[in-house]
Amino acid sequence: MTEPYVIEMTETGGVEVLKQVARAPRAPGPGQALVRQTVSGLNFIDTYHRTGLYPVKLPFVPGSEGAGVVEAVGDGVTHLSVGDRVAYLGSGTYATHYTGAAASMVKLPEGISEEDAAAVLLKGLTAWMLLFEVRRASPGETALVWAPVGGVGSLLVPWATSLGVTVIAVTSSESKAARARELGAQHVVLSSGDLAAEVRALTNGAGVDVSYDSVGKSSAQASLDCLKPRGWWVSYGNASGAADPIAPGVLGAKGSLVLTRPGLFHFIADPEGMRRGAAALFGALRAGTIRAHIGQTFDLREVGKAHEAIESGKTVGATLLRP
Ligand code: NDP
Repeated sequence: MTEPYVIEMTETGGVEVLKQVARAPRAPGPGQALVRQTVSGLNFIDTYHRTGLYPVKLPFVPGSEGAGVVEAVGDGVTHLSVGDRVAYLGSGTYATHYTGAAASMVKLPEGISEEDAAAVLLKGLTAWMLLFEVRRASPGETALVWAPVGGVGSLLVPWATSLGVTVIAVTSSESKAARARELGAQHVVLSSGDLAAEVRALTNGAGVDVSYDSVGKSSAQASLDCLKPRGWWVSYGNASGAADPIAPGVLGAKGSLVLTRPGLFHFIADPEGMRRGAAALFGALRAGTIRAHIGQTFDLREVGKAHEAIESGKTVGATLLRP
């Protein structure tokens, strides 16, 4: 068996700051569980922690989600036992083992593998937040979905479509466009084109009800220009860098638009939010509404290559890291 280790950074910067360090697992304290991790999920937020876009306290073990098998539980833990398969969101999952709050660990139902759970937990809860919690997606409305075949996008597109939403996907290449159509997008436009004009043409001049925008800096203006009056710009990510500030008057002039910048952790901070989200997510997986799509898997010791891959925009679906 692999000797226990973590991937740690003592400074922010390029992928070279991610270093493998031998470290024994931490015994669980009261209310905690220790998990031998099968996989850790890679998320864009991990790259923001690495570069310093989202500041962290150093030294820092990155990684925001994982799945594995419970090895030990601390005092007071009643709903988990040694040998249970679990998935969780937390800080420091780039490691062979993870010790964290047992209350925030989701016991995996029969038929859902640890790999699939780590591929969908954070990204699928994000899709749930966007479709059900930030605002409720309604049948008959039209949504612009950016990065439609990425980790979040490949769950958001089929889930939105299943709710009766017409999806116009925005992506960077013809091959990704084909994949977006397979996922259920009714229309696909390339991000290199005149997006506002194309979206107006596809919507009889009306524009879209909502833009689910994970791209940020390079997509912000187009998102605003594609909305119908009282439309929503849901800016939830920064794949191209953080979006520039915008004056409230601009939202007024463009038709009483709504701008929100949701973060998943505000929606699952209480156990009830997490329970509701996980139930919806696993329900959608079981029903076949969404599928875990693991696009690529890296050895955790080569996590730098995984960061380079997601930052280059070349990945499709979810990326897993195997300790
Ligand atoms: P993705 O798999 O979607 O990868 C990013 C995609 O963004 C790329 O594949 C590419 O898709 C697109 N993109 C556009 N411009 C660029 C650029 N300049 N550089 C790199 N990529 C670009 O990543 P995730 O699914 O992990 O995350 C998507 C976004 O959602 C991230 O910004 C992340 O931070 C955010 N997020 C936010 C959460 C929240 O709570 N608010 C929670 C989870 C994720 P294409 O080629 O199709 O344009």
